[in-house]
Amino acid sequence: MKYSTFFPKSRKQEFKDDLSINAKYLIKAGYIDQLMAGSYTLLPLGFRVVENIKNIIREELNKTGAQELLMPLLHPRDIWDQTGRWSDPDVKQIMYQFKDIHGKEFGLSFTHEEIVMNLLGKMIQSYKDLPVKVYHFSTKFRNEPRAKSGILRGREFMMKDLYSAHVSEEDMYKYYNLVKDVYIKIFKRIGLDVLTVEASGGVFTDKNSHEFQVLSDVGEDTIYTCDCSDKSCDCKFSQNKEIFKGQDGDKCPECDDCIIKSAKSIEVGNIFPLGTKYSESQKVFYTDSEGNQKPIWFASYGIGPTRIMGALVEVFHDDKGIIWPKSVAPFQVYLVSLNKNDEAEKVCSELEGAGIEVLYDDRDISAGEKFANADLLGFPYRLVISEKSGDKIEFKERNGSDVELLSLDKVISRVGEETERLT
Ligand code: ATP
Ligand code: MG
Repeated sequence: MKYSTFFPKSRKQEFKDDLSINAKYLIKAGYIDQLMAGSYTLLPLGFRVVENIKNIIREELNKTGAQELLMPLLHPRDIWDQTGRWSDPDVKQIMYQFKDIHGKEFGLSFTHEEIVMNLLGKMIQSYKDLPVKVYHFSTKFRNEPRAKSGILRGREFMMKDLYSAHVSEEDMYKYYNLVKDVYIKIFKRIGLDVLTVEASGGVFTDKNSHEFQVLSDVGEDTIYTCDCSDKSCDCKFSQNKEIFKGQDGDKCPECDDCIIKSAKSIEVGNIFPLGTKYSESQKVFYTDSEGNQKPIWFASYGIGPTRIMGALVEVFHDDKGIIWPKSVAPFQVYLVSLNKNDEAEKVCSELEGAGIEVLYDDRDISAGEKFANADLLGFPYRLVISEKSGDKIEFKERNGSDVELLSLDKVISRVGEETERLT
């Protein structure tokens, strides 16, 4: 794809110093555009990153037997009244609620537990119909009081929410624990090291939940973890500040050996073992093998693909721009032609023919500007074709400083090999 006809180009404007790194780079490089506080357009580059993130999530969830569907975002009040959440003061803080011109009340989706339970009520009769595991990717609306930190906290954002329904607590926890492990795999494939952290269930449940946190100084969460870095106890103790009863320097309550330390982090996922609260209040029962009516055991599991895009930029950047992990980069290659457009065009189509995604900078501007743009946009590989490179191609990784001269075949195998390793 040619950059000369690509929409949009990166922007020249400078930003206020206090703007977060993710907003600065994503806006400047043309990945997102801000409509208003907490509301962003995913431009073609940002859309590609988020689609790559979604596809990794989709692949891993499908392997657990989960099925994808798509639910409405405009919800009638009566279903939300069944659990009492419509009138819960904490929910009213974040849920957009309004009346239409006939006075009928609606809410915009900030989550989907009630809607899924309503669906199950129509579809589930007996234990033979369970378990059910369904998920969708859709926009969530939340009237966030602090819509800052760029795309990390939107008033409208992309969420993957998965819901599972089971005959028993045991069956629910079996799947819950599987998803907990699968989440780690998903984040690893995306390029993020996450910590699994115990947290409160918020407006979802009285039970504890598990959050998936990425260490970062710009994170809004504080977590307390067992600092066993120089020991071999391998203790996994980690709790959100909201529920941790202690302070830095305390002895770890789990291994009773190491010291607790706190850190700032970004929550990228959260899973909730909800139990039977929703099925009981929404009166959704199944018939067991002895003919008894039993409430459905329920759990929900969220991941925020747009927040992940922001978190990746916060974690992977330098003073020149973004450094995307190979698994989610919008293109693998940024191809630069220095007055050798005929040859570059051929190389571009050969690379594309080999299944490699290329953004080809064919503009009539200086080499320096093209290199700066390559660094800002942050694709894994920069290729340069010039008089100097002869019949070879200059090959440089965004994350490295070595420039190698490689044949086209070698370039194709290097980029191809790396990409294969990620699946
Ligand atoms: P936070 O504590 O950061 O407000 P939350 O605990 O309310 O988040 P959940 O309801 O658990 O969020 O949502 C599941 C996932 O959706 C989160 O882990 C996060 O990745 C994403 N997410 C939540 N709120 C936002 C938001 N305002 N903007 C972007 N992504 C979000
Ligand atoms: Mg959460």
